[in-house]
Amino acid sequence: MAQLGAGQPSVAIVGAIHGDEPCGARAIERLIEDDPPVRRPVKLIIANAEALERDVRYVDADLNRAFDDGVPEDALERDLAHQLASELRGMTAISIHSTQSYPYPFAIASRIDDYARDIASKLSVRALVDTGSPNLGRVFEAEADIIEVEAGLQKSDAATENAYRLVREFLTATRVLPGETTAGELPVYRMGEPIEKPDASAYEVFVENFTRVEANEPFAAADGTPLSEPNPFYPILLSSYGYADIFGFRGQKLGTVTPGQRESDGASSTRSRSRSNAQ
Ligand SMILES: [Zn+2]
Repeated sequence: MAQLGAGQPSVAIVGAIHGDEPCGARAIERLIEDDPPVRRPVKLIIANAEALERDVRYVDADLNRAFDDGVPEDALERDLAHQLASELRGMTAISIHSTQSYPYPFAIASRIDDYARDIASKLSVRALVDTGSPNLGRVFEAEADIIEVEAGLQKSDAATENAYRLVREFLTATRVLPGETTAGELPVYRMGEPIEKPDASAYEVFVENFTRVEANEPFAAADGTPLSEPNPFYPILLSSYGYADIFGFRGQKLGTVTPGQRESDGASSTRSRSRSNAQ
């Protein structure tokens, strides 16, 4: 744990929830090195240092799902999840991930509340994904405003560059750093149900994430056999080997958000606790 600035922070940056996604930790290290003059303190958290050190996603259990009933009491990540929830209580936070599915940054929130709308529209991301229902099981939870970003392809230099830029933008959006954010309209997607992989030894994906796939259009193959869906969808976190059992998610496009747009403008969700379903 590190901190920039003096006093009790209410803003936090979280890296290395997954140890084999080093871009967030690298961005935090670079921020400490740069030591920018902050207007208010910010907490810097490397969530799973041991997994990062070992270059594995996790040691005993996925930290983003560490409250799941199936996770043993003595799992390292169970402790880490409790620590993290306590560190983040009441905070405004960004958590940085990377994927095997998409080279460009996008944001993920468990619900599209004012915080998610406001922050995501001030980051250089291509999309905001609403995980909606907890379809990946009971996951990391904290009573905090948390937005997750996927910074790019796992272990790429571009993901580290993107992560650092996203951190600076987040700190500007939260008034930790001076300056103005460039805000724009942002497409919003609902994550939807997972797309199961049939048993096979080789998988391919033919389509781009966030680009509409038509009904009966082959989007992937398992051992050379093309796969399609009866209804159109927007692929989210879709990749050949990013997950063991699923290709990714059957997303739907919900609309767009703009900076400063509030719930009272007609959006549907309530400001509440945040959950993380990020890859
Ligand atoms: Zn991750």
